[in-house]
Amino acid sequence: MVGKKMDRRQLLKRITLLAASGVVVAGMPWGAHAAIKPAVETEMSEEEYARYLEKIHNFNRAHSDDLYLSQADFNLLITSVDRFKRLQNLVGHANFYLLSFDDALRLSRSYTSVGSFSKYEIEFLEKIFYSSASTYGFFGEKPLKNLTDRIQRRRVTKVPHTGNFLYKGKPEETYKAIQDAVGEKVILTSGVRSVIKQFLLFLDKALRANGNLSLASRSLAPPGYSFHGVGDFDVGQVGYGERNFTEDFVQTPVFKRLNELGYIRLRYPRDNNLGVRFEPWHVKVPGV
Ligand SMILES: [Zn+2]
Repeated sequence: MVGKKMDRRQLLKRITLLAASGVVVAGMPWGAHAAIKPAVETEMSEEEYARYLEKIHNFNRAHSDDLYLSQADFNLLITSVDRFKRLQNLVGHANFYLLSFDDALRLSRSYTSVGSFSKYEIEFLEKIFYSSASTYGFFGEKPLKNLTDRIQRRRVTKVPHTGNFLYKGKPEETYKAIQDAVGEKVILTSGVRSVIKQFLLFLDKALRANGNLSLASRSLAPPGYSFHGVGDFDVGQVGYGERNFTEDFVQTPVFKRLNELGYIRLRYPRDNNLGVRFEPWHVKVPGV
């Protein structure tokens, strides 16, 4: 059990860092700019580990130490989500998957049906993007480092009948191999997502959770932290609907077949130390 112990130690180190930096200042609730003191590396107690697991198992519930947006930021969250949704209506769902931050700002200025992002909204979005997500409990890597990172159209391909895109190369090859092996029952449920698409998903979740960033990040990676931005994708079983995004997916013939064939390399396995729920539908593409 050495591996498990090391995971816990790493996790605790991160949590200790978080505690050291988590100075709560009005209007800056997650203490992003507070000085980080050196962490004291100690073993996580059984009790602490049990509490951590409790949170990721009950990811959709609020927990006592969850971090919330301030009221001022929550108001900016509401108007930003509305604007993102109007933008999505303007460009269509498929184009929205690829939309860059700069394009979003430009289009919002050009179309009165969307309306310009205000200075305060832009500052709020920058703060969300550049704050360390570990301060509210998400410990994954950040493959997209810049708010303005864009997805190049020539590097992606549209997947027929899904409304989604995949990166050319290994992600597209992996999906084709999965289709060949599993047949017509498997479907791509989510592919490439730009920073903007991830913003809408994450902020909309936070909105429905009354500004609880911790709760949102247990089931949706914050913008910049999603591997959908660099090649990972989600699969499901045709006709299984929303249950494709629940633990029930492991009961489907599609999941079982994928697992037998060795295609299930998960980014967020059960009881991971990233602060994220179990996501059996999320395929970790080799080399991504
Ligand atoms: Zn996913």
